[in-house]
Amino acid sequence: MQRWECSVCGYIHEGEEPPLKCPVCKAEQEKFFEIEASEELVNLVELDNDSGETAAEKPSRTGLNITDLILDNHLHPISVHSPNGIVPVAVVFLVLVVLFQFSGLEGAVYFNMIAVLLSMPLVILTGYLTWQEKYGGVKTSVFKIKIAASCVATVILFGLVVWRTVQPDVLTTNSIERWLFTIWSLILLAAVGLAGHLGGQLVFAKKNGK
Ligand SMILES: [Zn+2]
Repeated sequence: MQRWECSVCGYIHEGEEPPLKCPVCKAEQEKFFEIEASEELVNLVELDNDSGETAAEKPSRTGLNITDLILDNHLHPISVHSPNGIVPVAVVFLVLVVLFQFSGLEGAVYFNMIAVLLSMPLVILTGYLTWQEKYGGVKTSVFKIKIAASCVATVILFGLVVWRTVQPDVLTTNSIERWLFTIWSLILLAAVGLAGHLGGQLVFAKKNGK
């Protein structure tokens, strides 16, 4: 049984041929290379073959030092805990405020949203650099959806923070705006959840591979 590795995300496939598309990052079949019996053999093949596809396909890390710093210290997976961790809490608080009049939590919703909004430039910058360097900036559906979801989340979050700043009683007075604010917050949660879910699939590609 041959083993094939996706050069984009590292997913390992076992079979006679590589899959038509990587199940994790959706990269095309030609992004797969066959893994030799031992690591040493792979290294020898790469050394032997200067213009080898394996070496050429691998993104080289020749960018700024800051990029190496971000990748080596896993700043993207760390920084995404801000939106992925805080947004669900903020939305739960918001639902408690809107449905059960827990008005004391309203300030927590607002300041949690501000905290996440402030973290978004770092999340997006580290995400972009990780995509470029680690995944060679490959434009497959996984990355397109992930980038789109992150942008949608940031725009909605910005809008909600501005809205609450301009209209401080938007959640505590009974009005149509209160429900619109809630619906937008749920869309925000969905966008953050989608981006986080896809990120998790990419990070745990090897472990979940068949
Ligand atoms: Zn892949």
